[in-house]
Amino acid sequence: MADAVKEAGRAYIGIDIGGTKLQASLAEESGAIVGRQRCSTPRGGGSEPVVEAIEKLVEDLMRQERVKPADLTAIGVAVPGVVDPDAGRVVVTPNMSLTGVALRSHMEKKLGVPVALGNDCNLGALGEQWLGSARDADSVVAILVGTGIGGGFVQKGRLWRGARESAAEIGHIVIQIGGPLCGCGNRGCLEALASRTAIERDIREAIAAGRETVLHTVAPADLSVIRSGMLRRALALNDELVTEIMRRAAEVLGYACLTVRHLIDPEVIVLGGGVVEACGDLILPIVEEVVASDQLTGAREGGRVLLSALGDDAVVVGAVALARKLVGRNPFKKRFAVKPEYPHIIGTEFGKITVGRKTYSRDIYIRADGKVKKRDKATAKAVYGSSHTVGPEELEKVCRGGLEMLFVGAGQSGQLSLNEDARRYLSRRSIQCAVLPTPKAAEAYNKSKQRRAALIHVTC
Ligand SMILES: [Zn+2]
Repeated sequence: MADAVKEAGRAYIGIDIGGTKLQASLAEESGAIVGRQRCSTPRGGGSEPVVEAIEKLVEDLMRQERVKPADLTAIGVAVPGVVDPDAGRVVVTPNMSLTGVALRSHMEKKLGVPVALGNDCNLGALGEQWLGSARDADSVVAILVGTGIGGGFVQKGRLWRGARESAAEIGHIVIQIGGPLCGCGNRGCLEALASRTAIERDIREAIAAGRETVLHTVAPADLSVIRSGMLRRALALNDELVTEIMRRAAEVLGYACLTVRHLIDPEVIVLGGGVVEACGDLILPIVEEVVASDQLTGAREGGRVLLSALGDDAVVVGAVALARKLVGRNPFKKRFAVKPEYPHIIGTEFGKITVGRKTYSRDIYIRADGKVKKRDKATAKAVYGSSHTVGPEELEKVCRGGLEMLFVGAGQSGQLSLNEDARRYLSRRSIQCAVLPTPKAAEAYNKSKQRRAALIHVTC
């Protein structure tokens, strides 16, 4: 893995510091992620153990990928709080202990590589504009819904930082005057009404008041933590209580999007974060309905709401973009735009396919980072009873890494097809798609100049 990065000449590390986990990824200049490491965030004991854990994580990643500091061009760090990027200092991190730490000079001294700092949700928006759902948009506001709610505003690849480095704190716009207390100390913030923390609180209160729920069967008995995945499972089981509370949270989120539209009118609003990743199918239609009900007309159509295309990687990809800007290689400038290296699809005779130098006698997919993977037909068979149907579960794997175009080789006589949910999965992430007989799909894939992926049906 590391060889590819070294050949390309430049390697970057993006770090996502979270309240519960730390994530570091090694990336190529193209933004393709080639290696990952993660660990849990040390709790208690102040900032020192956290800084040590971050530095150890970077060292572990470099050892795992056989990369030396001299191979690294720059490091981008995403911090969950207010940072002063110019001073390289963390101003405040409400949910963990990094407040006041001069993180940049600390890391630069230890690792000997230039380091850039940014706010995590701002970088999530930057990531989505570089390689995600907002890649074709002039402007984007990203709203990330998890334990809290954060946001970022990016126009033409430039982050709107604000006069006090605290712009786009969407989680703290007040939706309900005098409403529930927010972690920030104010009342009635969006975060206090629609974050996972708020959803958990509402569920617990309803249970205490005697409401029934299936959550007891999919979550720990005391419901001390209700993760996004548990909410998803409860929704799948048509749980009345969870559905009702999630619908309300989605509606609130819709009104927050309406506020964003009236304040900034971005070309797209991208929704992401753990809660949206898990429950986006319920949330997005409700948000769209609220936004569509807007009586204040604009001069033309537009202002779409999309789902994050990068998911968990959005923040790290944004951190890599920031690192590239730091060393004068702004990925939004045409002359610094670099695409991953894509393999050539050579033979597509019946039952066989050759990609680069390797021949496969089974279905494959080629991801946006150029890696060839074997298709697992079991998923499609289990859900749809046939491996000829492609659904969103499969696209989630095929579309990792951010792409503009998906080529589907449907087989010699077009057996493979995308179902309606799969089509919706793509359009909600602004990914184009061409379904063609396999030889034609291979030809189109080879000719394409776009960031692309391919799913190729070879054998039944
Ligand atoms: Zn607040």
